Amino acid sequence: MYRIGQEEIDAVARVIRSGQLFKINDAGRECLQFEEEWKQRFGCRHALFMTSGFAALTSALVGLGVGPGDEVIVPAYTYIATALAVTAVGAIPVIADTDETLTLCADSAAQKITAHTKAILPVHIQGFPCDMDALTSLAKAHGIAVLEDACQADGGTYHGKPLGTIGDAGAYSFNYFKVLSCGEGGLLSTNESTVYERALIYHDASAVAFFGDQLDHVSESLFGGTEFRTSEITGAIMREQLKKLPDILRDLRRSKAALIAAVGRPLDLLPSHDADGGCATTLALRFGSEAECRAFLQRCRDAGTDAWTPIDTGKHVYTNWTQIMEKRGAFHPAMDPFRMAENRGLQTQYTPDMCAFTLRTLARTAYIAIDPDWDAQAIEARAAAIHNSI
Ligand SMILES: *Cc1c(COP(=O)(O)O)cnc(C)c1O
Repeated sequence: MYRIGQEEIDAVARVIRSGQLFKINDAGRECLQFEEEWKQRFGCRHALFMTSGFAALTSALVGLGVGPGDEVIVPAYTYIATALAVTAVGAIPVIADTDETLTLCADSAAQKITAHTKAILPVHIQGFPCDMDALTSLAKAHGIAVLEDACQADGGTYHGKPLGTIGDAGAYSFNYFKVLSCGEGGLLSTNESTVYERALIYHDASAVAFFGDQLDHVSESLFGGTEFRTSEITGAIMREQLKKLPDILRDLRRSKAALIAAVGRPLDLLPSHDADGGCATTLALRFGSEAECRAFLQRCRDAGTDAWTPIDTGKHVYTNWTQIMEKRGAFHPAMDPFRMAENRGLQTQYTPDMCAFTLRTLARTAYIAIDPDWDAQAIEARAAAIHNSI
């Protein structure tokens, strides 16, 4: 979250005064209006606002028809929720290496494709766009779906196209740590009506009757779903957050460019598949070795500038996805995809060294968080720290 204030306070007050906190109501219909505004801004046909990014990922997988017997390729570097969304629908996450940008490597993904692969799940991690041309053509060649995890990439673009709208479906998160935030929230976007309608049923089991008129391709009694509904309070906050998105991105990019310029010496930036389209939430620097990277981090911290390496980010690194690595995919053994008969013979050989390239790249990368609201002094202080630490 970057900017929240009076606009959101007024929006929440409006909802509370109306007394209409459920999303189907006779007052503002904030959640539904937020979805309309999102569709207009991002140019997608369907948007479904819900409780979290995880909810959006699982609903999208259900929408795409992924389930037991299916493999979904995920990158070795992403928050564990990406992989757990796959097990939540009974499928098997297959872990592939990242490329030098720390996003899903198309070559590694290609090597993992089998007759069981149903989808590829690229993650625009830290707002850095994935190699979408290579990944979408790979998926097309094999007749499989692409679900973009854009949870860390609200508003980023790849060759001008909004991240999350390039594949068959996209998932966004609005939890506290994301570009836009209402505390907790998420959104699924897709252009495919069947994906949308299946996700609609899944995300709102008991209230599907409210949406009966939106179901043109599937029956509302197709299957029982779960509950990922949001309240009008979060809908009202997100409408204000969305209005702020262009300015937040402009100022993130401005801060990042100013910081790079102010360092005043050449920097080895992590390469990107679209450096201008990224969200610019993070300055990512490459070093020759983990030791050089750690020495840089220590000098930055000594100079009062917070910097860290993604290898230390816990559940973002596949080796720390304990429940996946140890194959405990559900609360009950009969619902555990790792024990299901349908999944026998699928790729579940997880070892700590299976994506060594990703681990090496993570360990020699340094991150510095960008703030859209830095003043010149804040930029100077960080630039000096970086200059003196390299
Ligand atoms: C935050 C995040 C999620 C999950 O989003 P929640 O809203 O916390 O459920 C999934 N994938 C990635 C890459 C994330 O950063």
